[in-house]
Amino acid sequence: MLAFMHKNQRYFHHKDFQKPHHSHSGGGGSVGSKNTDTREIKIVRKVLDVNDTIAHQNRKLFREKGVFVINVMSSPGSGKTAILVKTLSHITPKIRCAVIVGDICTSNDADRLAGFGAPVVQINTDAFGGDCHLAAHVIRTAAGNFNLDEIDLLIIENLGNLVCPAEFDMGENLRIVVLSVTEGEDKPLKYPLMFRVCDAALLNKIDLLPYLDYDRKAAVQNILKVNPQMPIFEISAKTEEGFDLWIEWLKQKRHKKT
Ligand code: MG
Ligand code: ZN
Repeated sequence: MLAFMHKNQRYFHHKDFQKPHHSHSGGGGSVGSKNTDTREIKIVRKVLDVNDTIAHQNRKLFREKGVFVINVMSSPGSGKTAILVKTLSHITPKIRCAVIVGDICTSNDADRLAGFGAPVVQINTDAFGGDCHLAAHVIRTAAGNFNLDEIDLLIIENLGNLVCPAEFDMGENLRIVVLSVTEGEDKPLKYPLMFRVCDAALLNKIDLLPYLDYDRKAAVQNILKVNPQMPIFEISAKTEEGFDLWIEWLKQKRHKKT
């Protein structure tokens, strides 16, 4: 019985957010049933408006506290957590970090991220009634667990999902998308909004390239087709190849903003 109710909730969540996905990326032309769904579209717009308002408040608070915030997004299994573990080991304790990690269930990622000198808060989105993205109000609540006066860099690991996390501003300074070489080279073309809204792309797991028929040039070209200005860092969270450039870029960005 419980399982059924849970399933039902999820169904409505996805249905609610189907329209803005279409209208945001395609200018609204692809929504076929405009007349019958106006009420639904209005409700969804309201949700996004409320989110933007809270994101604005978050951004103001983070600026006042001198906290630089990055939002890391990708599909599941691209190596976000592994990248963040290695990133933390490079920059703490000189840069005082905190991490908010989002998953539907489990604290596995938080457990992996703990022990690197940064406080970690795990969000299980089931508790917030949503399940496939983090939103501004969730970040506001989670950030309440930290003393922001003692934090320089707040890292948000979003849920593994290349679709709706792209639509939810949380008040962050930078958006990072991770793409790994075990995924298709055409991911940027399939999920253009994600690559359009992000400020940098990390192409991860390049240590595996000798074992794969992966066209890394095509992957880079596809990212640049969607976002011609996008800085792309080819890295391996396993061997730390490419990390120097990524860390240096991140430090510079933080420096400029604060
Ligand atoms: Mg993870
Ligand atoms: Zn979602």
